[in-house]
Amino acid sequence: MTYLRNVVRYGYAPFMMFGLTGVAYWVVSQLVVAEGKTWAYLWIFPLLIVAYATSLAAERIAPYFPEWNDHETHGDMVANTGHIALYELSAINGVLLIPVICWLFPFQGLWPTHWPMWGQVLMAFLVADFAFMFMHYLSHRLPLLWRLHAVHHGVGRLYGYNGVIRHPLHQVIDMVIGNMPLVIIGMPVPVAVVLGFLISVTLIVQHSNVETALGPLQKHLAIGRLHHLHHVNWGTEGDCNFGLLLTVWDRLLGTYAEKLSREVTSKDMGVDELPNFPKSLWEQLILPWVYVPGKGEPERYKKMAEAAKAKTPAQEAREQILHAAE
Ligand SMILES: [Zn+2]
Repeated sequence: MTYLRNVVRYGYAPFMMFGLTGVAYWVVSQLVVAEGKTWAYLWIFPLLIVAYATSLAAERIAPYFPEWNDHETHGDMVANTGHIALYELSAINGVLLIPVICWLFPFQGLWPTHWPMWGQVLMAFLVADFAFMFMHYLSHRLPLLWRLHAVHHGVGRLYGYNGVIRHPLHQVIDMVIGNMPLVIIGMPVPVAVVLGFLISVTLIVQHSNVETALGPLQKHLAIGRLHHLHHVNWGTEGDCNFGLLLTVWDRLLGTYAEKLSREVTSKDMGVDELPNFPKSLWEQLILPWVYVPGKGEPERYKKMAEAAKAKTPAQEAREQILHAAE
């Protein structure tokens, strides 16, 4: 088991970031671009399923916090699966809109189409990494954006599935700010597809409950332990490590942190104002209109938590029968 654990600790992040993304890149650059098989874009879906499934398996073998693997107690798998569907659908819509945006903004000549495709993807990812980090930073600074972003932070544990928990409106704003500049200067659809896949995989790895061994890269990648620091629910202490993949932007902003005032435990994730963060997808979608930052937890959530703890008449009757039988 120790051997397998080490394979996952060292192999999980490279497998996801280079292995799966490499396959996605090959599918798009070879099958779609070189051979003209547009249908091959569909391969992205099974690859995404493999990415999510790998995160679940890796979390079983080498978890940071074994208690974060208890899906039943956390009761968030259904809502998170819904979030995954919403996120990926929205990403597809974004890609489908690219030709329309290109038609609206005729600045296509600026994109370096003569570069090898891997160079285009790398440049697009670096620009998006900075843009997403900056939007993330603003989402913690501006109350209106924080209402939307609180949906991502309310969860009580981190694991691969909740990397893409975004309010759909927040995701649209993120995509417009993060990707629109690239699209306006002419990012081709194949590059956008690989970029979208890479961002999804980065979000999964960033939030995975896997004790990744990154060696000398530990301080330079905003994933795993460094990202846990960002999710703590102690007031504003989590206002650090906003990066998607690289920590260089946080270092420039002065928001990089390697440790906080105390060691982070498995119970420290969440938003301190929202101890009863709702479990249902619908409640999470309307959260930005229910939650007012600085005004404490909405009464609605307290009532929902009490109702969830309350026993149904059938449960009470059953307990009375069991009690009488003792
Ligand atoms: Zn955040």
